[in-house]
Amino acid sequence: MKVLKFGGTSVGSAERIKNVAEIIIPQGKNVIVLSAMSGVTNMLVEICGYIKNNQAILAEQAITSLSQKYIETISILFASDNNRQAAAVKAMEESNKRIRSFIGNKFKDEDEKIVLAQGELMSTMFMHLYLHSIGINSSLLSALDFMRKSYNGEPDKEFISKRTNEVIERNSKADIYITQGFICRDCLGKIDNLERGGSDYTASLIGAAIKAEEIQIWTDIDGLHNNDPRFVENTTPVRQLSFDEASELAYFGAKILHPTCILPAKQFNIPVKLLNTMQPTAPGTLIGDIPDMPASIKAVAAKDNIKVISVKSDRLLLAYGFLHRVFEIFNEHTTAIDMICTSEVSVSVAIDNGKELDQIIKDLKKCGSVSVDEDMSIVCIVGNIHWNKCGLEAVVLKALEEIPVRMISYGGSNCNISIVIRACDKIKALNLLSKNLFNQ
Ligand code: ADP
Ligand code: MG
Repeated sequence: MKVLKFGGTSVGSAERIKNVAEIIIPQGKNVIVLSAMSGVTNMLVEICGYIKNNQAILAEQAITSLSQKYIETISILFASDNNRQAAAVKAMEESNKRIRSFIGNKFKDEDEKIVLAQGELMSTMFMHLYLHSIGINSSLLSALDFMRKSYNGEPDKEFISKRTNEVIERNSKADIYITQGFICRDCLGKIDNLERGGSDYTASLIGAAIKAEEIQIWTDIDGLHNNDPRFVENTTPVRQLSFDEASELAYFGAKILHPTCILPAKQFNIPVKLLNTMQPTAPGTLIGDIPDMPASIKAVAAKDNIKVISVKSDRLLLAYGFLHRVFEIFNEHTTAIDMICTSEVSVSVAIDNGKELDQIIKDLKKCGSVSVDEDMSIVCIVGNIHWNKCGLEAVVLKALEEIPVRMISYGGSNCNISIVIRACDKIKALNLLSKNLFNQ
């Protein structure tokens, strides 16, 4: 069995939903994971804002415009199936009722998560009903029955694996399984989610749970491109990536993939294909256990909102105790470090999660003098970059010679070179890399 995940644009209208049906039906009995229709999660976020601020009229207006989008979709999808049309409208009204129940009351974080879950619940309901209307016996599986986080806020893989297989087993007569991406329950059973982009993570967690033969991530572009197409023209798809290369690119900003979604696939060596719903026959990108390739740079990505914290030791700690204490402080504040550079007396650390920044700085000041550079970006260059192959790092640095470079990290793995620059130089840097590395 395979897992096929379709993002928001892929299910963004009645036409797109029909198009997805055409892609999934010939592939047989698989698990299909859907995001909310494009724009819907943003509308739900907006509605949450109005409810939180007690703006009942604005909340009502936003619910009405969301309903208009749904009604238009329903009327096209079920133009010749009155029963299913009625069922879809009923599901939509129930969902709206749930959202409205929060208006005028104190709006808690857990209520917000219930509202945000409505997008995936609706898109999957539409797909499920549509498949039935064209004679396909789909089974709509609620992700809330098998996707759960454990006490540490991470997916509870054991629970997910057991429950997913049970649910599939119980519905074994189905032609196809439809389920929601993004949504899950927390360790107490309340509705939660895997955060933005989390549908990719759902797909790979299900893939790992059922030991899928393949995970397909269908989106609006023909695979992972060698640079960020939002900022660079003429980027081209990379045909093959190793799990590690794909993980680095996703973590460092290639929006096409959720940063954590590669790990479950890698664990069970499940190939991940990135494919384009608008061009279903295009080869896309294959991520997997690929054969060793000649040394080469394959792709570049960039991550924003980086802060660089530098600590210069006051030498009250002995040299070996200094780094230990600095890292301990980040650990105490549960803040992941994206990159480090060290010298004998100082260390620079790049982070993206600034929630605890003030407290971190306060604690670091006990180890030495501290300075912070905000509004930075990490540019990550990925490929088969083994240290004993000469020259690849030189090409990268040469390409960026016009740009002030705050940090460089090379040799941490065989597949990446990471560079911290000012956020305002990012687009220029990505374009220079494109020109110098890929002649684009
Ligand atoms: P979905 O809604 O299907 O999950 P996303 O918007 O999350 O789709 O991801 C697809 C988008 O990722 C593309 O439209 C593209 O703009 C963006 N993107 C950023 N970097 C890359 C890259 N290196 N390769 C391909 N797409 C990328
Ligand atoms: Mg996405």
